[in-house]
Amino acid sequence: MNTPRHFSSCVAEYDPNALPVSAAQEIVRQWALPRGRTEAERVRLFEALDRVLAEDVISPINVPSHDNSAMDGYAFNGAALLNGSDDELLRLPVAGTALAGQPFEGRPLAAQCVRIMTGALIPPGCDTVVPQELVQRAGDTVTFASARIVRGANRRLAGEDLAQGQPALRKGRIVRASDLGLLASLGIGDVAVQRRLRVAFFSTGDELRSVGEALAPGCVYDSNRYTLFAMLRRMNVEPVDLGIVRDDRASLERALRQATQDADVVISSGGVSVGDADFTRDLMNALGDVAFWKIAMRPGRPLAFGRLWSGKRPGEGESALFFGLPGNPVAVMATFYFIVREALLAMSGATPHALPLISATSSQPINKRAGRTEFQRGIARRDTAGHWHVVTTGPQGSGVLSSMSEANCFIVLKHDAGNIDAGDSVDILPFDGLI
Ligand code: AMP
Ligand code: MG
Repeated sequence: MNTPRHFSSCVAEYDPNALPVSAAQEIVRQWALPRGRTEAERVRLFEALDRVLAEDVISPINVPSHDNSAMDGYAFNGAALLNGSDDELLRLPVAGTALAGQPFEGRPLAAQCVRIMTGALIPPGCDTVVPQELVQRAGDTVTFASARIVRGANRRLAGEDLAQGQPALRKGRIVRASDLGLLASLGIGDVAVQRRLRVAFFSTGDELRSVGEALAPGCVYDSNRYTLFAMLRRMNVEPVDLGIVRDDRASLERALRQATQDADVVISSGGVSVGDADFTRDLMNALGDVAFWKIAMRPGRPLAFGRLWSGKRPGEGESALFFGLPGNPVAVMATFYFIVREALLAMSGATPHALPLISATSSQPINKRAGRTEFQRGIARRDTAGHWHVVTTGPQGSGVLSSMSEANCFIVLKHDAGNIDAGDSVDILPFDGLI
């Protein structure tokens, strides 16, 4: 499928001046296949956090390994329970004690009980635990109301958490905190994970200056590389920083070839708008199969997407997926989260999951043009009844990066929606866990 020169045709059926976000996402999805150079590696648990599992992890044991008590109390054979009235008392002599890690030795008689602590093995012949709060103890005998307890109560069954031979975690899973604990609970000390995706990134623009340099009139500091670096790090890919590239053909060609050679994915910012030098398009098409989209989204309209090759002509040498993001700082973030992110997950071998949108009530009218998806910056809060309310951060220019820092969510306004009235329901994407 990933043959050169077939990519641009994917967009043929859409208006080239307004590719819907959903269509752009779908096309990217078709192209962002798990990379060919996948190599799994085994890592120790402490290194496995946020990595992508390269194979199913099969539970080698039952968890818990044996039936055990869920409470501090007394274990006994539930056959002894009386089926009588509420106040009928059951009286059982205490045969001994079972502690966590120190089982009761031997087998209690049917009409005996064993003092048991949470997590301790249920002694043979017993199947029920009466919590200590429900019993009266006098010497070596406990008494409790039989009707207060049902047979099998307060017992955790062997394999109840995870059964031996069953997949505990699936291939494609991004390892979370609970997973590390779960793997440890199975006695597993290392796991096979995918090699981290290498993502090369650079900024383009003659007006860009690096932090530390003096700012000449008309120049701006390059912020996109820092934003991109941070978003890539959060995705636990391996960022490869190729710096600032000047707006000339030779510099751009050098950067693109090197990036394609070094990385699985290449991300640039700037230089893809209408009005940018024509050499950009010529060059990108000389190095690969790249489409220049105008996406029906705001911010983030111009975007180049395709595949680049490092060899003499497309199809030769190493290849990398390419995203030419717009230059405006907020557009970089919006296109990263809504177009690039899922592709990086898929190429990493992870099972992509949709971003969790939440419904909120807009506290104000919002101007919105039908026919494009807008990602406005919002400040959301939850009221005491549990409902979310959102306002915008104010001016929504795609160069206003402070709006991202001020916001705590994107307000995602759907393609077909027009102006929003105060009180209307909108979708928000909270930044927590994302930014
Ligand atoms: P472009 O897409 O190259 O036309 O850039 C659009 C706008 O984004 C221009 O105002 C650029 O100065 C600005 N811009 C481009 N790249 C960066 C960058 N790396 N950091 C900050 N601003 C940028
Ligand atoms: Mg530029």
